[in-house]
Amino acid sequence: MSKVVVVTGAGGVLCSTLAKALAKQGNKIAVLDLKKEAAEQVANEIIAEGGEAIGLAANVLEKESLELAKKEIDSKFGGCDILINGAGGNHPLGTTTNPFLVKEDLLNKTEGFKTFFDLDNEGVKFVFDLNFIGTLLPTQVFAKDMIGKKGCSILNISSMNAFTPLTKIPAYSGAKAAVSNFTQWLAVHFSKVGIRVNAIAPGFFLTEQNRTLLTNQDGSLTQRGQQIIDQTPMGCYGKPEDLISTTLYLCDEASSFVTGVVIPIDGGFSAYSGV
Ligand code: NAD
Repeated sequence: MSKVVVVTGAGGVLCSTLAKALAKQGNKIAVLDLKKEAAEQVANEIIAEGGEAIGLAANVLEKESLELAKKEIDSKFGGCDILINGAGGNHPLGTTTNPFLVKEDLLNKTEGFKTFFDLDNEGVKFVFDLNFIGTLLPTQVFAKDMIGKKGCSILNISSMNAFTPLTKIPAYSGAKAAVSNFTQWLAVHFSKVGIRVNAIAPGFFLTEQNRTLLTNQDGSLTQRGQQIIDQTPMGCYGKPEDLISTTLYLCDEASSFVTGVVIPIDGGFSAYSGV
């Protein structure tokens, strides 16, 4: 395939890996990230490997910023064929300290200790905006290019917490459930204009986003980190490279009759009841 692929959040761990893999297939990659330097660095790495890329600052929460990036992409590569909505993440203000509420927690006045009742509205909104609106706006900006063209598709990044919420992260779990639901909605809505819409739902990958939650300073696993391994039938964390083949498949004609699916890539985590 030789397409124009726009990847948001592509300065990050998982989507830089996907951007590089798509470049190796001969695609032209627009590497978009809030952090300009991160986007440029990934684009430069692709170019150094003989690929074609452009690194651009773009905020998935601001349509104007996305329109500006689109102008540059249009003049360098032409219109978008494939969009990967990769920007996303969690925020500590949308996270509880403990997995379960016990009465004693209500009396705990330690600074930073958060029960469900202390969740910050702005923190929760931040997470919903970043993951949901951050998928909707780039789709509005880039999907118009795809209408009536052959072989166009959109890939969203959900999470296995969209199937069953993880403890402590209600905002992130809810926001990713919204991304999965929106993937199905868009797949139906765009079905008559030739745009397929699918998602991958990664399980646990050790990245900067979750490193402090899952590992101690000495690199050993935290209690939560170990709990995840115990709940993952394959018994390990994923590597970013584990996302490549499913991504290539969903972005390629090989999946031309596949739309509206959310594929877990999680070592069996979402399939396992724990018993
Ligand atoms: P990451 O933090 O390494 O990458 C996210 C990138 O998004 C960063 O480079 C960041 O600068 C960029 N970004 C943040 N806000 C943005 C904005 N407003 N506009 C544009 N870019 C913005 O995280 P990652 O682990 O590579 O995650 C990539 C995607 O995969 C996210 O959607 C994440 O929620 C999802 N995910 C990650 C895991 C995991 O275990 N790491 C699991 C499931 C799903």
